[in-house]
Amino acid sequence: MTNNKTSVTYDAQDLWQKDRNHFIHPFTDFSLFHEKGCDLITNSEGIYVEDVRGNRFIDGIAGLWCVNVGHGRAEIGQAMADQATRMAYFSTFNNLSNAPATELAAKLAELAPSHLNHVFYSCGGSTANDATIRLVHYYFNRLGKPTKKHILSRNNAYHGTTYMAASLTGIASNNWEFDTLDHLVTHLSEANCYRRPEAMTEAEYCDHLVDELESAIERIGSDNIAAFIAEPIMGAGGVLMAPQGYHARMQAVCRANHILYIADEVVTGFGRLGHFFASEAVFDTQPDIINVAKGLSSGYAPLGATLISDELYAVLSTPQGLGGVLSTGFTYSGHPVSCAAALKNIEIIEREGICENVRDVGPYLERKLKTLAVHETVGDIRGSHFMMAIENVADKTTKELLPVEARVGDRVAAEAQKRGLIIRPVGHLSIISPPLIWSRQVVDEVVAILDEAFAATTLSLK
Ligand code: PLP
Repeated sequence: MTNNKTSVTYDAQDLWQKDRNHFIHPFTDFSLFHEKGCDLITNSEGIYVEDVRGNRFIDGIAGLWCVNVGHGRAEIGQAMADQATRMAYFSTFNNLSNAPATELAAKLAELAPSHLNHVFYSCGGSTANDATIRLVHYYFNRLGKPTKKHILSRNNAYHGTTYMAASLTGIASNNWEFDTLDHLVTHLSEANCYRRPEAMTEAEYCDHLVDELESAIERIGSDNIAAFIAEPIMGAGGVLMAPQGYHARMQAVCRANHILYIADEVVTGFGRLGHFFASEAVFDTQPDIINVAKGLSSGYAPLGATLISDELYAVLSTPQGLGGVLSTGFTYSGHPVSCAAALKNIEIIEREGICENVRDVGPYLERKLKTLAVHETVGDIRGSHFMMAIENVADKTTKELLPVEARVGDRVAAEAQKRGLIIRPVGHLSIISPPLIWSRQVVDEVVAILDEAFAATTLSLK
């Protein structure tokens, strides 16, 4: 790779040993970890990453749905270095501030739907969601509606792993043997067109999901429900596609019941669906709150943000009286180095027309991936633009899944990796969520690799 200005030679054996002995990896299958250890990624540039042995791979997952502008952007590194040496950190509590946090808040207000003009910073997606629920509870307490506490989420939603965010998360396996705050959360059905009840059309399915929301509100009582939270497209839960019009209808029901609508755009924000924010541009919703992280800084520094409506802010910012403060926030709320990274990242997205690239190459990626339907295990190819998944099945007609022991997602990912492409296995799914700078030519290369990977997987399952 050419970005070796800071190239370092690693002692792979030493690192592997230290990693095994001391690093508790998040979301890791310890049976595999004990057996194989880890892959050390040591270098990256553009759409590529390189491991410690010097093997180069196309990054098909943008790190973890986040490196939207691609790897090795020297100008983001420089902006961070400049800020770190000028003023790496100072508090933003009380009346203190810093220039990058202020500039970024104003920029986010400019980019977001017009009623979202206020920004509360956090350290990533989980903390953005956690902070949001605290703010929402505080909002209703201050409105004199202290019973409005319950949050509606959905099965297979992913909102993070801090306590509240994990409780909002609806992927059962994610919370296995972990505790959750069940008294605060009700999970509605996921919106999943591929696995909708067989007899239903898409429109009937949408009615069914909206009816379910209305029944839940009737059962729990709108006086007890604070908010509904939803990813525009459910990401980690399997890139699940809602029926046409679902989000706008869900929001209308929420609004009629004075239930806040929170869009978790941690994945869909910052260009993945071709717009800075998908809620309004793609799904015709006007959320009361939008949460972002990941693509906000393209993963160059940890950062999350909660974008809050004027209406909510008017309540949140009402003075409490002498000595009272809005007592929530983090040491690193509005961290200057992270905000400097985000500002440069947004400048790049705008300057290079990255949203436009996604709107151009995204539909091409969708079309090309659909050619993989010829393979025996490929049951569904779904998603939108640069947020795609392939669902592997045992039987395309019944949609029956392969046994867990077949580890089909892992097999496809391993076959792709052998051929120079990293995708993300999640159970029986193969997820593709690339940096937003893939060209049509890269798409052709990727789909050729996947074609071979699915063929090899089919053979290996015989
Ligand atoms: N929300 C969504 C939709 C996500 O996909 C994620 C992470 O994948 C999160 C929240 C949690 O973000 P983080 O891992 O930065 O805490």
